[in-house]
Amino acid sequence: MSGKRDRTITNEDPYHPEEGLKEPAICDGCGALYRNRRWQLDAQAAEVESANPEVSRVSCPACQKIAEKYPEGVVTLRGAYLWEHEEEIRNILRNEESRAMSQNPLQRIMRMEREGDELIIETTEQKLAERLGKVLHRAHQGALSVTWSDDHRLCRVGWERLL
Ligand SMILES: [Zn+2]
Repeated sequence: MSGKRDRTITNEDPYHPEEGLKEPAICDGCGALYRNRRWQLDAQAAEVESANPEVSRVSCPACQKIAEKYPEGVVTLRGAYLWEHEEEIRNILRNEESRAMSQNPLQRIMRMEREGDELIIETTEQKLAERLGKVLHRAHQGALSVTWSDDHRLCRVGWERLL
C-alpha cells in the first residue's frame, strides 16, 4: 500500500498539483498538454507548444500514478461467463477508456491483467472504475457492486456473471 493514501484524510487528490504548475506544460510520458487550467490530449497543439521556450516539461497526474502504481479505482471481474467472452469484454473496457480519455485525458486504465480466476483492472481515477463497471453491466448484465473507501480515495468495483 502506498503511504500517500494513508498520510492524510482529505478529499484532495495528491496527484493534482496544478496550483503550482506553470502553463503551458507538456507531459513527457504521454504528451498531454496542460493549458487553460486543464489537461488535454491534442498532438497538434502539443507540437506547437513544444517549440515554445516557456513550456514546462512535467509528468502529468495520470503518468505519475502509473509510475508509482497508485490506482484510485480497482475493478475485479469474475465468473465463467467472463472467460467465455473475454475478448469482447476487454474491448468494451478499452473502448470506454477511450471515450473517457476524450473527455478527460487523466482517466486511464493503468493495468488490466488476469490474476487466477479474476480479471483485475486498475484505473487512475475512481470515476473511470465506476464507469467501466456500469458499461459492462449494461452490455452483459451480471451482478455489479461499487464501494468507496472511507476517505473516498479508492473506488472498488466488482462484477460477476456465472452463466
Ligand atoms: Zn502523462
